[in-house]
Amino acid sequence: MAIDDSPSSIFSPWPDRLRHAALILLAAALALSVVVALGELSLVRACAVFACIAAAALVPWRLHDATASREDVRGVNPVEANAVSAVVAGMPDPAVLLDRAGRVIHLNAAAAELAPALRKNELAQFALRSPEIITALREAIATAEPRRATYTDHVPVDRWMELVITPVPVPTQFGGTDKCMLMTFHDLTPLRRVEEMRADFVANASHELRTPLAALSGFIDTLQGPAREDARARERFLGIMHTQATRMARLIDDLLSLSRVELSAHVRPEASIDIVPIIRQVVDGLEALAAERQVEIDVDLPETPVAIAGDREELLRLFENLIENALKYGASGGRVIVSLSQAASGDPSPEIRVMVRDFGPGIAPEHLPRLTERFYRVDVGDSRNQGGTGLGLSLVKHILNRHRGRLLIESVPKNGATFTACFPRPKTLVPTQS
Ligand code: ADP
Repeated sequence: MAIDDSPSSIFSPWPDRLRHAALILLAAALALSVVVALGELSLVRACAVFACIAAAALVPWRLHDATASREDVRGVNPVEANAVSAVVAGMPDPAVLLDRAGRVIHLNAAAAELAPALRKNELAQFALRSPEIITALREAIATAEPRRATYTDHVPVDRWMELVITPVPVPTQFGGTDKCMLMTFHDLTPLRRVEEMRADFVANASHELRTPLAALSGFIDTLQGPAREDARARERFLGIMHTQATRMARLIDDLLSLSRVELSAHVRPEASIDIVPIIRQVVDGLEALAAERQVEIDVDLPETPVAIAGDREELLRLFENLIENALKYGASGGRVIVSLSQAASGDPSPEIRVMVRDFGPGIAPEHLPRLTERFYRVDVGDSRNQGGTGLGLSLVKHILNRHRGRLLIESVPKNGATFTACFPRPKTLVPTQS
């Protein structure tokens, strides 16, 4: 039991029992001084009495320190010191301090949130019931060496944690040390997600490449075999082979563009560039496709330059993808509007918005959040027939991210879709680059 817990006390760093003894000796010295001053006791006798009191006060403390084992102290946790508790509480990852039996001494808020079954003074084995964790804990206690285990949680979302159990000597209240186990959890969920995404990406990309490749080798076999002498079949098959080869080339092109944009994602383009001629160039380049699909493109662009901090090649790619998609998937609407608007000068976050609107079948709401995922298509067959790779909108999103912009997608099924590329307006306008 502490006598004086105030941090300013000169006794506060001392163990409790030593503080007791010091206070007793102080009181005895004062009392004996008064008695000697009053002439009731000689100085020699007073010293002898003081020595007896000192022995009585100090010897039990020394004896206790030498003999008392930690297990003898019932109901008091020897390492329940504020400093240890503060260290565990201050750890950024979930952390739990266990005694030699695996009983919880301290746990921080992150650990309590991660595993609500963990309770102070209760065995961690009961709360974390995984056999792998129980074995790791048992081994760490037996060998006094660190052990690792995996902790998984599925509610409310899937989480994967690496659990490290490290034996640590913790100072006790009696000046000794107690061997405890520090259990820390490290969240591996983001790494695992990235790994899953990488594996998905490789599987998707190879599948996408394998499909046209299989078609190509099938037609080569046919042309070398049964259709060797058939001029009409040869003509038709060569046409299909050309389409498949173009599709493969486009896919490789899109994959390379995507990886280039991702590599430079952290470097924001700095060159000031007028986007009006870029949009016009893209529209001009797609006139042939528009005519083929019988779609009219209405362009509503300002006559004056509109400068943003941007990368010319990436912007060409971005507008090409959006306008080409509108022409391909929204062709039935017969009309596509490409317009540019600028937020009013008083707007707190001024943006330059390029809107591509079509009047085709639109997109059902459940698809909207996933459209910018790699290889995601509403209708795979339709996309392939249109020569799509499923990477266009993903590329658009990455290019906009690099330009610190954002993509807005709105659609009313049966009433078309609107894709809006929003760019932050540059703070100071520098001479434009054409
Ligand atoms: P793709 O190469 O297949 O065109 P994108 O990433 O550009 O890939 O587009 C993903 C999917 O989004 C398309 O397959 C299509 O289903 C849908 N989509 C894109 N733009 C439109 C649009 N304007 N109208 C309807 N659906 C669209």
